[in-house]
Amino acid sequence: MKFRTREEYHADLRAMRKNVFKNGRFIEDIVTDSDTRALIENESVTYDLLQDPQNDGILKAKSTLSGETVARWHTLMASAEDLMMYAKLKKLHFHKTAVCCAGVCTGWSTFNVLWSVTYEIDEKCGTDYHKRLQAWVRGVERKTYKVGAALTDAKGDRSKKASQQLSPDFNVHVKEIRSDGIVVSGAKTMIANAAAFHEIICIPGTAYKENEKEFAVAFVVPRDAEGLTLVQAEVSEGREGWDTMKYASAASYLIFEDCFIPKENVFMCEEWAFSGSVISRFTANYRAAIGACMSGNTDIMVGASALMARANGLSSNAFREKFVDMEMISNMVYGLGLGAMLAGEKHQSGAFYADPTLAHTNKYYVAKNYAEIRRICQDIGGGIAETGCLPNYKDCTDPVMGPKIMKYVQGNSDLSAETRARAARLCEWFGRGGGAMAFIHGGGSPDGARVVVRMNTPIEKYAQAASDIAGITEKIEDPAPKK
Ligand SMILES: Cc1cc2nc3c(=O)[nH]c(=O)nc-3n(C[C@H](O)[C@H](O)[C@H](O)COP(=O)(O)OP(=O)(O)OC[C@H]3O[C@@H](n4cnc5c(N)ncnc54)[C@H](O)[C@@H]3O)c2cc1C
Repeated sequence: MKFRTREEYHADLRAMRKNVFKNGRFIEDIVTDSDTRALIENESVTYDLLQDPQNDGILKAKSTLSGETVARWHTLMASAEDLMMYAKLKKLHFHKTAVCCAGVCTGWSTFNVLWSVTYEIDEKCGTDYHKRLQAWVRGVERKTYKVGAALTDAKGDRSKKASQQLSPDFNVHVKEIRSDGIVVSGAKTMIANAAAFHEIICIPGTAYKENEKEFAVAFVVPRDAEGLTLVQAEVSEGREGWDTMKYASAASYLIFEDCFIPKENVFMCEEWAFSGSVISRFTANYRAAIGACMSGNTDIMVGASALMARANGLSSNAFREKFVDMEMISNMVYGLGLGAMLAGEKHQSGAFYADPTLAHTNKYYVAKNYAEIRRICQDIGGGIAETGCLPNYKDCTDPVMGPKIMKYVQGNSDLSAETRARAARLCEWFGRGGGAMAFIHGGGSPDGARVVVRMNTPIEKYAQAASDIAGITEKIEDPAPKK
């Protein structure tokens, strides 16, 4: 099969309807615009990797449907090994760009969830969603498309249910069911790298009951569909020279206004009883693999810290133990994720899902420990690598003031001042710029992860076992709550 190239990908993006809004205008050419080019460059990297046979083991796999060799991110994750390749692919991408590769991650994970959920809906309700999903997968694998996922609704007041909000649009919902498709409205927010996708899969962001069945909807939509507008969020890039990094990830709001979704692209429509399974299966795989993202990002932060130490004139050996601290955290979340995969289970539809308790534990430790990694990076780099301590590129290259400033940016006398400035900006970028990944809420909030672990911890069973070991014959009950 012929795989899409970066040039073909860019041509696809340029041919799309101009529906990405940023800085008060719709972006004309998202490939070159200063607000989007680093995002597109980031997502282009996987197309480069696909062209290099050295990466075939990770990037390519046999199609579940056609048996052809296709891009791995369009194949079914049918075993622990397949899930581990999901983690490896993400880590490889992070090693190249240090930022989120949602175009080969979130959509992939989501169609794997819909694989089993559509199978179950069809069995129970006599629908044909699973066949539709398979036909769609066959289409995107032929085109090597980039596909993202949108779960997170705008939600509104967090203490209220979707049906109690000021507007039903706070959560994406079905407005009309027609014989040829459905009409949807509402907003999904914070959708990673959405402007860079060919298509986006939308799934329910939570479990719904029958009285809110209109919110239980899953479908795929072209990124430039009529009735869909993207508003790209701010990334602290977009300046010039070495102030700007080559790669960025950037989330978007997706605003659906009476957007028509043809029947063949609809995978759930009001089957509310299955919405909970969508979330639990999505989070199991995604949270098992999120350690790979943090681990890949951390490895490059270790590299950046070593560069900064050397640019300051110090041997990186002086910081060896700090690198070990960073790597041990990185290994912990990567390895715990792989463990969750190995402890996973196969669904009768053929899809494979990681062990939820281990996966959610992993998400929690990713969220909790990432700040520590960034702290160590900035600790090693010095003040110049921390927030706002290095004059900007424009001033450093000013014909009059530039040389005067750069005289004092100089560190290691064997290196240029510009090299030290670049290393410092990179460390700062990891600390507070686009290189600082959203590992707290990305993939779901840590408190949600704790709820799963709490639910899956059988305290009574453990108490009984402890009691048996201690030879206690009396039943030790929880004291009744005090009045
Ligand atoms: C950079 C980035 C990329 C992302 N990419 C994607 C993506 O590609 N696709 C996607 O679908 N989503 C994406 N997300 C969204 C992400 O999944 C959400 O941020 C996450 O699920 C948390 O939702 P929220 O931001 O609305 O936080 P909130 O729901 O507002 O939560 C804030 C805090 O309040 C707590 N809380 C919320 N509700 C309650 C309640 N009822 N009672 C008590 N406590 C509560 C939470 O536990 C949390 O501590 C991304 C987020 C980020 C930051």
